[in-house]
Amino acid sequence: MQNLDRSISVLQSQPYSKFYNLEPNDKRCLLTADIDWAPDFCIKYMLDIFRELEIPLTCFATHDSEILRSAQRQGQIEIGLHPDNTRPEPEHGLTRKIENLKKLYPGAIGLRCHRNFFGQNIAEMAVKSSISYDISTFLWNQPFISGYKDQFGINRFSYFWEDGIQLDTETELEVSKINFNTVGLKIFNIHPLLFYLNTVSDDQRRDAVRGITDLTKVEESYLSKYRKSDYGITNFTLDLIKKLKSENFQFFLCRDLLAQEKELL
Ligand SMILES: [Zn+2]
Repeated sequence: MQNLDRSISVLQSQPYSKFYNLEPNDKRCLLTADIDWAPDFCIKYMLDIFRELEIPLTCFATHDSEILRSAQRQGQIEIGLHPDNTRPEPEHGLTRKIENLKKLYPGAIGLRCHRNFFGQNIAEMAVKSSISYDISTFLWNQPFISGYKDQFGINRFSYFWEDGIQLDTETELEVSKINFNTVGLKIFNIHPLLFYLNTVSDDQRRDAVRGITDLTKVEESYLSKYRKSDYGITNFTLDLIKKLKSENFQFFLCRDLLAQEKELL
């Protein structure tokens, strides 16, 4: 147990330790959404539900969205950037991916790369765009998730649960399968398209978007045909959140993770 005691004391001394759920009376978690080019009506559907639940949401944006901007103005959400580094541009490669999104959302300080495509070259580009933190690493259902400041000065965090991975791993839609009552950061991530469709498999999502070249412009009358009414990922996400609330977890924005670090400076 000596090693465990030593590990806990190291965790306690870290700048983000208030979010590590080390104290039974101070449980904290964060909810994020990767926008992934969802049309505005999907984003609105998601934002309306979380406004009703009074849950702050950090949205990682892929494109220009007035719905996101308006929710940010109302203080409901924080906007971070979600560049697609899997598709280099013919002339500029990856060099303008973060920069162009930052022009759309100049206040953004957070990053999660689409498909978690992050590396040292991306980190250097992020620094140039004044990005303070990145959450492009995924540690499915793992305890002891902690953050650190990397060699570029970026605060690096990992997320713990995601709606799409829940479906990909075919994990039973049962809240008790998710190890949220463990020590460590608890960042949950959803996707507005999946949240709107309420699917039970990624195949169902693929069916809905097959042949679509610009998802941002799809009409609701088209996508609504693919919504599922049986118990699906949206029902599960909401049950998970209900359980977290019943266990006294408080929800925060990702930028709140950095506040404690600033207190220590
Ligand atoms: Zn993505």
